Amino acid sequence: MLEPIELESVNCGVCGSDRSTPYASGKDYEYRTSDEIFHIVKCQECGNLYLNPRPIQQELDRIYPPSYYSYNYDKAVHPLALRAKQWLDDRKLKSWFSHLKMEKPTFLDVGCGNGRYLELLYRRGIPKYKLYGIETNLETVDRLNSKGYQTYCGNITDIEPELPPESFDLIVMLQVIEHLDDPRSSLQSLSRLLRPGGILVLETPNSNSADVKLFRQGFWGGYHFPRHWNLFDRPLLERLLTEANLEVKSFRFLPSPAFWILSCQHAIANGWRWKKIARSFDPLQNIPLLSLFTSFDILRSRLGFQTSNIQAIAIKPE
Ligand SMILES: [Zn+2]
Repeated sequence: MLEPIELESVNCGVCGSDRSTPYASGKDYEYRTSDEIFHIVKCQECGNLYLNPRPIQQELDRIYPPSYYSYNYDKAVHPLALRAKQWLDDRKLKSWFSHLKMEKPTFLDVGCGNGRYLELLYRRGIPKYKLYGIETNLETVDRLNSKGYQTYCGNITDIEPELPPESFDLIVMLQVIEHLDDPRSSLQSLSRLLRPGGILVLETPNSNSADVKLFRQGFWGGYHFPRHWNLFDRPLLERLLTEANLEVKSFRFLPSPAFWILSCQHAIANGWRWKKIARSFDPLQNIPLLSLFTSFDILRSRLGFQTSNIQAIAIKPE
């Protein structure tokens, strides 16, 4: 038995209401950092899905163990999947630049991880003094700073005063907002950091997709118990971005093969208790399944269905 984790009750991260109904429950199926059963509730005011109660700030080191995949991404992922990822990153960069008028934007990556995008932009010819990153892992921040990037350790709301206001041409926050304790204030900070006409690119799980409905009660990979604290859909993101004085330009639904694979893995291991079979459902290693679900999601999105990965592009009005 692991020691109980310390939890606190919170209000909705979008509208602040404390009126909610139970929605889903599950355990930390991926990293087994505790034995607790966690609960996702649905806000009765705005429909936001949020973890309640959730671990206190002092438990963050426990729920993000050193083995957490984003700290070890290049080592944890199958080399073939890594090559596919590089190809997708290239396309991603091209799509970001299609919204910009300049060649060498001042750039901020919130939750920059190992600095992959900072390096890709540097290779495109953008000088390091224009490449900023924020990350909560001090070791990563030190390493990126020693390479000459402008990297800061902590939360966006705490770091905002240290950054030049109204000066960023492009800010990206990919698969981060769902982890934050205060998504509302964080978006407002980013809005103040953008220069008028600057672009924000946001990617986060979408709580309104077929795989969520299929695995709704607790096995959906996107719940990522207990690390995803708020799960949004398109109307909720539109509301948060508008309230942060940003203008939404577009929404897109991107492939999300990892959530399909994890959902199946959790259901097989914990619902049916076929542990051996479940082990082969590894979202970082199983190339046939990754290809299958990527193609499936691309097809679904082309046919007009929502996937469980939503991208929002917003602009700060001039
Ligand atoms: Zn709410």
